[in-house]
Amino acid sequence: MDAIVSYNGAKYDCLLFDLDDTLYPLSSGVNLACRKNIEDYMLKYLHMDESEVPRMCLELYREYGTTMAGLKALGYEFDNDEFHEFVHGNLPYETLKPDPVLRNLLLSTPQRKIIFTNSDKGHTARVLNKLGLGDCFEGIICFETLNHVDDKPISKSHILCKPSVEAIEAAVNIANLDPKRTIFFDDSARNIASGKAAGLHTVVVGRSDLVEGADYALRSIHNMKEALPEIWEAETKDHHDQILQSAAVETVVRA
Ligand SMILES: [Mg+2]
Repeated sequence: MDAIVSYNGAKYDCLLFDLDDTLYPLSSGVNLACRKNIEDYMLKYLHMDESEVPRMCLELYREYGTTMAGLKALGYEFDNDEFHEFVHGNLPYETLKPDPVLRNLLLSTPQRKIIFTNSDKGHTARVLNKLGLGDCFEGIICFETLNHVDDKPISKSHILCKPSVEAIEAAVNIANLDPKRTIFFDDSARNIASGKAAGLHTVVVGRSDLVEGADYALRSIHNMKEALPEIWEAETKDHHDQILQSAAVETVVRA
């Protein structure tokens, strides 16, 4: 992914967005259906005990940030693409509607905009298409970006995904970002803590209280302009200082 090297005068050069439960609300039901599918996968393909699956699914999610990463860490071997196909294959995508408010907000920002999600590329494309946001982003960093080379999985036993700081640093490198000039939006408290550890500015989405490592909290992504007007504003003080400085140099040269 090529970086656009330009100084837009604003505090940030790039807006980095999680996808699920960040660009659309948890109340859509997609998350719940996704978790049900993961539980079904654990039953059907990993032959786990039915009475244990819901608790284990939740515990792995809490401990590792994604149930998939937790299953891998426990030594379960399964095909990543097959897992994603099963889990995302029959989600209630019809509940996701075009979001012209968010679309206008995104298109009005001067920064680069990049999606950074643990989801696979098929799911990411379907969600963005349903939300009417397919053309709002310069690039997408998804599961395959971090875990495939030439369309083949890098490892069967290990996956790279949020909330590992390593995954966030990999995304920063791939997109050629300056963490100090990048602001990261995510609904997961663990992802936000890791984002902060990787040096990013951070916004936790979907709640009004701050979590560890969050610089801002947004009840909804729709509130981003009220909460973060600096995304749209030029850094007038620095810019003013620069102008004064260059004028002073010019004066000296002329004298
Ligand atoms: Mg999310």
